Amino acid sequence: MMAELEKVKILVVDDKPDKLLALQAVLEELGQTVLSAHSGPEALRLLLTESFAVILLDVNMPGMDGFETAALIRQHPRCEHTPIIFITAFPDDAFAARGYSLGAVDFILTPVVPEILQTKVAVFVDLYRMSRQVEQQAAQRVTLAQEHAARLAAERANRAKSEFLANVSHELRTPMNAIIGMTDLALTDSPAPAMREYLEAVKSNAAVLLELLNELLDLAKLESGKFVLERTSFSLHEMLSELIPSAHYRAEQKGLTFVTAVSPDTSARFLGDPLRLRQVLDNLLSNALKFTDQGSITLTVTVDSTTAQEASLRFAIRDTGIGISQADQERIFAPFTQVDASTTRRHGGTGLGLAIVKELVAAMGGQISLSSTPQSGSEFAVVVPLAYAITRSAQKAVPTGMGATQAAAGSAPDSPGAQLHVLVAEDTRTNQEIVRRALTRRGHKVEIAEDGRQAVNLVSQSHFDVILMDLQMPIMDGFQATAAIRALPAGKDVPIIALTAHALSEDRDRCKSAGMDDFISKPLDIHQLAAAVETAYRRPEGCGHACHS
Ligand code: ADP
Repeated sequence: MMAELEKVKILVVDDKPDKLLALQAVLEELGQTVLSAHSGPEALRLLLTESFAVILLDVNMPGMDGFETAALIRQHPRCEHTPIIFITAFPDDAFAARGYSLGAVDFILTPVVPEILQTKVAVFVDLYRMSRQVEQQAAQRVTLAQEHAARLAAERANRAKSEFLANVSHELRTPMNAIIGMTDLALTDSPAPAMREYLEAVKSNAAVLLELLNELLDLAKLESGKFVLERTSFSLHEMLSELIPSAHYRAEQKGLTFVTAVSPDTSARFLGDPLRLRQVLDNLLSNALKFTDQGSITLTVTVDSTTAQEASLRFAIRDTGIGISQADQERIFAPFTQVDASTTRRHGGTGLGLAIVKELVAAMGGQISLSSTPQSGSEFAVVVPLAYAITRSAQKAVPTGMGATQAAAGSAPDSPGAQLHVLVAEDTRTNQEIVRRALTRRGHKVEIAEDGRQAVNLVSQSHFDVILMDLQMPIMDGFQATAAIRALPAGKDVPIIALTAHALSEDRDRCKSAGMDDFISKPLDIHQLAAAVETAYRRPEGCGHACHS
């Protein structure tokens, strides 16, 4: 069905009132709005405010005649192309030529035949309507195109910002890792007390900076959609048992009561990303501890709903702290937002925590909600769906060899055991130095390869007990070098440990399928390095790189 069309306007100009009325009556039958003027000047005045589909102009008028009026009408920008029909009783060729030269589109003779007048005017009404429609559609198209272009530009700018942020924070992490590693080494060299104090200060500040960089990297990855969550089988209760003691301790230090209420029906193994879930809870607990000076913090874990395949788990963190006003509750999930600069100065923080939490929870397919009353406390509730890891095959999805060192991270065994010949493929000087010192301190022999190709050559020439392999190296990267080493008779069984800048699951999977046995993520920790190397060597037969299949 056609939408009802807007009425258009027709102007009739004639000095004789009776003729004007008659013309108006005939034209009104077309269902349009008909305006009339008794003289040329009156018509021109109307043109200042109105647009007409067609103008009917009497030629013989006292004062300003029809031709003069037409000439002035044409000068008006709004009426440059408005069709003009002259009405006359005495047409001749010279007369018609003058009319056409002034922009007339037609002549109508008096006495007017109503049907002829209506037919001619109707044509111009239709034309006017069509051109208006075309104009409107063109304008709409321009608006749509502009909106689309603006949206694309905003998306591009946002992606570029996130990518820039990801690259910058990634690049900043490398020197930061070197600072932390070197400070660690300096601290193990029994520095004088004053020097130890300086070094401890460097270390703790570097750790804060590294945390900020990690947060920025996380947020940039989450925002640019490059974040990949793990899906491994894990015990929720085990994860909580790692998280709760530290929160308990921090609460005690502040004189707060820490209460946990974990429903027994959450004891199953689930499929998901335990590290990231823990990061979410840790962040909310840290905030609760930060913004509460007296009273209690309560962590409640319950099953909201369940099916045969998955459970919807609810984690609620309630505090009796300073609370958050309604207006601030809407702001604090945005990056770099903190409620009050004075409390922030007292408590530190970057204002990135909740932004990351919100993105992480969304990436897990969950939701976060907040209810809070100023001066009385807040409750952050996270609801996430987690699939049950019930089948054996699902249980097998847990990475076994890979990441084992991470979980057991900390210190090297007391005795280094045998002296090992370790090949280190790493192109960064500082990291070479950190690894060399960490291992020579334990009595091991270290050989350095500057790139993957050198590492392959060295393996074909001498025997190594363990290989540490950086992933990003010039000439031949760690993945290619591992594949080449595994193809050598001397390299078939030697444990290879990847040194990686990220602990992401896709990197871990790539290391595993490239034939590596384990990985250590940077910043390199000297104790963890020694532990990983010695554990990899000691690992019983059949549980070296053969485990990764
Ligand atoms: P950060 O804690 O690093 O400043 P967050 O994004 O984690 O950044 O938090 C943003 C702000 O939200 C905090 O600075 C604080 O003002 C407010 N906030 C968060 N959690 C709480 C809480 N439990 N009680 C009161 N205020 C909170």
